[in-house]
Amino acid sequence: MVKIIKMILPNTFRNSFRNNLFLYYSAIFLIFTFLTLAYLYKREKDYRIGTLNDELYNITRITDNYLRVNSVYENNNYIILDSIVKLLPQPNLRISIIAPEGNVIYDSSVRDWKSMENHKNRPEIVQSLISDFGISIRNSGTTGQEYYYYAKFYTRYFIRAAVIYDVKTVHFLDAKKFFLFVIFLAFIGIWSVMLVITNRFSVSITRLKDFAIRVSKNESIDFDSRFPKNEIGTIGEEILEIYNNLLQTKNDLASEREKLFSHLDVLNEGVAFFSRDKSIILNNDHFIQLMNMISGDLKIFSSNFFEIPEFNEVTDFTEKHSAIEINSSELPKTEFQIAKDGRFFRVQCVIFNDKSFEVILSDVTKMGKNKLIKQQMTSNIAHELKTPVSSVKGYIETLINEPEMEQKKQKYFLEKALAQTNRLTGLINDIVVLNKIEEAGTSYLLEKIKIKKIIREVCDNFKSSIEAKLMKVEIDISDNIVVTGNKSLVLSVFQNLIENAINYAGDNTTIRIIVYNEDKKFYHFSLSDNGIGIPEEHLSRVFERFYRIDSGRSRKSGGTGLGLAIVKNAILLHKGEISARNKTGGGTEFLLSLPK
Ligand code: ADP
Repeated sequence: MVKIIKMILPNTFRNSFRNNLFLYYSAIFLIFTFLTLAYLYKREKDYRIGTLNDELYNITRITDNYLRVNSVYENNNYIILDSIVKLLPQPNLRISIIAPEGNVIYDSSVRDWKSMENHKNRPEIVQSLISDFGISIRNSGTTGQEYYYYAKFYTRYFIRAAVIYDVKTVHFLDAKKFFLFVIFLAFIGIWSVMLVITNRFSVSITRLKDFAIRVSKNESIDFDSRFPKNEIGTIGEEILEIYNNLLQTKNDLASEREKLFSHLDVLNEGVAFFSRDKSIILNNDHFIQLMNMISGDLKIFSSNFFEIPEFNEVTDFTEKHSAIEINSSELPKTEFQIAKDGRFFRVQCVIFNDKSFEVILSDVTKMGKNKLIKQQMTSNIAHELKTPVSSVKGYIETLINEPEMEQKKQKYFLEKALAQTNRLTGLINDIVVLNKIEEAGTSYLLEKIKIKKIIREVCDNFKSSIEAKLMKVEIDISDNIVVTGNKSLVLSVFQNLIENAINYAGDNTTIRIIVYNEDKKFYHFSLSDNGIGIPEEHLSRVFERFYRIDSGRSRKSGGTGLGLAIVKNAILLHKGEISARNKTGGGTEFLLSLPK
């Protein structure tokens, strides 16, 4: 039905939701109207048949009375019935008298009734035998017209009354014209009302439809335009609100994701997230670089992670936990190291509640090196301690074993032991200072230091040695030059450098300390002597811990081999720089910078 209506309507009218809704309602209403009409038609027909039956029954009764009163059966003069048929009000009436054995003994419409075939099997006759009367609508075999037959059995004969059926039907349809007109008017009225109602709903639905299409095509949505104030409009507003919130959340998530990406990119570690089925979700560039280094294959991608034998431990770990419930307060973690081509890599894996997991790769070679340096340092310290401790031990043993030793000799041994213990104290102090610098990082207290004052203080401490070696100290620094640093460390820097110059430069030399440059952030100092200098091949290594050029001479002068290491670390802690070079005219020059 709807299809038919759609076909009739023009194209523009066919597409919108409003028209569809309208057409569906119209179709339903039309069906309802036709069903009502059909029902009314049937009722009317039943009523008319009932009335017709009553009329025809009366005719048969009158006919029977007439036959009986006029002794027609006895006289067999049925022809007189013609007069009564004419008198009856029913138009086109046909009366037949049929003997019990089926022979027609009178028929008002057929003169030659004797030649008519036996009517025993006519439906109305058969029916009248088993019930009160019989009816049938069919074409007459005699007249060829369609009749409504009514037959009743009256002891000695059947009386059958019939009317032409068409006439009744036409009459009925005539009577219904007005009714159909009323129905049509009601249909138009209801149609108009439906048009208004569907229009109201369709505005909301059409907006919702447009909204859905725009969302699916990723087009911009106009959040300001309102829906009409009805139930669907309210639903529309709610959907728009939910979508708006969803969009907001999506944008927030995207910016969080963006942040996460940038965070991952600045990390020194390689980070990757995998889903529970081991497919890659996210990784940074470092992850690929480290994977390349570990596997030795430059064409490898994060999706190949589980094919690399070095990472088998991760595969085993994730597989072991795949069937185990994970407690969110204690996520399973594993960590192991891989050594490859002289480098060390740390692999960490964390499994999350949903069985997705994170893999972190880090290059820990430097950490490994630090460990090596620490080991070297420990063995150096042990070695450095061994000599003075065994000397002290030797002196004491000699003193104990020779109680008769003359006093002068005893004093000599005790002085030697004291010198060694002083060396030990110096060594331990240097180790403590160095450790402190390395561990403290930036936690040293910084203050403004008048640098000339500090240098003077150092020179005063070494006054006797300087004089003994006939040395001179020239300080070309203005009084108001102030550096920002840790006082004891800055003191230690100049103390070590001046002490080295006193110890190694030689007699009759001059130590010169100047500010040779300054910039926005730093003062640049030069501390030089005109002594023996440092052979070129040793220059780059003199800042290493325990590095000495002539260990015998260094020890003799009380050196620990840690002086320049302390100086370098102290300068680096102040974010300054230090280097050593030989002067063209002879002697050593240290160039160092300290912050303003
Ligand atoms: P040490 O405790 O042996 O003095 P340092 O680290 O202070 O250790 O110095 C390392 C080495 O550098 C010294 O052993 C010495 O040979 C050399 N050196 C340091 N300063 C000078 C200098 N001014 N002139 C010559 N050699 C120096």
